[in-house]
Amino acid sequence: MLDYLGVAAFVIDVISADEFRLAAINARHEQHSGMKHDKVAGRRVEELLAPGTVAQLKANYRRCIENKTATDYRETLDLPIGRTYWQTYLVPSLDETGRVSRLLGTAYEISDQVHLELEARYQSTVMSVYLDESPDGILVVDANNQIKTWNRRFLEIWNIPETVMAQRDGEAALRSVMEQLAEPDGFVQRIRELYLSLHEEELGIRIQMKDGRILERYSRGLHGPDDNYWGRIWFYRDVTEMQRMTDQLMVMSQTDPLTGISNRRVFMGRLEDEYRRAQRYRHQLSVLMLDLDHFKQINDQYGHATGDRVLKEFVRVVTPEIRASDCFARMGGEEFTILLPQSNLQSARQLAQRLCQAVAALVFDSPQGAFGVTVSIGVATLCDSDSSPEQLINRSDRCLYAAKSEGRNRVRPSGDADDCQAPEPRL
Ligand code: GH3
Ligand code: MG
Ligand code: MG
Repeated sequence: MLDYLGVAAFVIDVISADEFRLAAINARHEQHSGMKHDKVAGRRVEELLAPGTVAQLKANYRRCIENKTATDYRETLDLPIGRTYWQTYLVPSLDETGRVSRLLGTAYEISDQVHLELEARYQSTVMSVYLDESPDGILVVDANNQIKTWNRRFLEIWNIPETVMAQRDGEAALRSVMEQLAEPDGFVQRIRELYLSLHEEELGIRIQMKDGRILERYSRGLHGPDDNYWGRIWFYRDVTEMQRMTDQLMVMSQTDPLTGISNRRVFMGRLEDEYRRAQRYRHQLSVLMLDLDHFKQINDQYGHATGDRVLKEFVRVVTPEIRASDCFARMGGEEFTILLPQSNLQSARQLAQRLCQAVAALVFDSPQGAFGVTVSIGVATLCDSDSSPEQLINRSDRCLYAAKSEGRNRVRPSGDADDCQAPEPRL
C-alpha cells in the first residue's frame, strides 16, 4: 500500500537515542532519493547519508521521540541525487513499554517550490540593489496608473516628497512635478499618449527643466505572458552634465583655441556645402586666402607670445568686417581663409583691400619698440568650369603666392589668365 502513496514514505527503527536504522522506504521515496529499498533496509543512517544531513535528521528524530508527538518540518537533504528539499511529517510509534521504537515518516519533495522561492528571492535582491544603485530615476506604474515602485534617484531627480509617492497615485505624482517643467503641456500630453499606446517604447526623449537641467526619458510597457498589460516602467536620467560636456567638445572640435574663430575642419565643411549650393542655385562664391607677411620674423624678434597677440589682434580687426553668413577660419599657423557665399570677385576684392589696409594700420607695442604687420591676400571666385571646391581653393592659393612674390602687403585677385573660362553670369 505504501508503494502506491503519492508521497515518499519511510520507517525508521529507533535502536537508541543515537542509533537509527532505516527499516523501509516506498517506491516514491526510491524515485526521489535515488536509494533502493533492498540496499538500505536495516542500515544506519550514517551509512546512507552525508554527515551534515545525518545531524539534521537525528535532531528531528530526537525531537519527535522526546515529545512523543507527530512533528512537521521542512528539511534540506544532501542525497545521492544531489540537494533536495522536503516537507516531512514524522509520527512516533510506541511499543508496549511506552518507548518510541519506530518513526513513520512521509515526505513531500518540495525542491521545485524551494528553487522557485530561492529564485524569486534572488531576483528581488538583484532588483532592489539595482533600484538602489541605479543612476536612473525609475518609476513603475500599473495598468490603473497606480504607482508600484520607485527608487531614491527618482525622488531626487523630480524633487518629489516621499509622502506624495506613498499615496501611490500616478496622477498626483504627475501634478506635483508640473511646475518644474519648461514645457509642462507637451510633457503631460506625451505621458498620456504613452499610457494609451501600450506597446510603444520611448528611447532617450529629452525633457527640459525650468532650472536648466536636461532629463532623458526611456519608457516601455510591461506585459504579462498572455500579452496582458501590466503597466509601464519609466527611466529618467539627468544628462545635463553630459550635454554640457558634449556641447563643449563640439565647440572645441570646431574652434581654433588661440583666436576663437572656426578651424580648418569647419571651413572645409562649409566650403563643400556652399560649393554645392552655389552650383545648384548658380550663386556666386568667393574665397579669400590670407597669410601674414614675414610672421616668422615677428616671432623671432618679439617672441612667440607677441606673435600670438598679433594673431589675435588680426582676428579682432577682421571679424567685424565680415557677414554672419561668411566663414572666417584659421587654417593653421598664420594662414586664414574667408569664405564669401553670394559674393562676386569684385566685392570679395574690395573686402580684401579693406582688410589689407586695416591690418597694415595696426600698431603693436613691445619692449623693443612699436611695430606693425601686413597681410597678403589671394582672391578667387567660383567658375562654371570648376568641378570641385578644391579648384577654387587652389586658385586663391596661387593668387596668394602671387601677392607674396609681387611684394606682399597686397591683394591679388585671380585675373583673366588663370580665372574662369567662358564665364556665364552668376546671380
Ligand atoms: P611669408 O611672408 O612668406 O608668409 O613669411 P612668414 O615668415 O610669415 O612665413 P613662414 O611660413 O616662414 O613662417 C610662419 C611662422 O608662423 C612660423 C611659425 O613659427 C609661426 N607660427 C605658426 N603658428 C603660430 C602660432 O600659433 N603662434 C605664433 N606666435 N607663431 C606661429
Ligand atoms: Mg606668412
Ligand atoms: Mg604661411
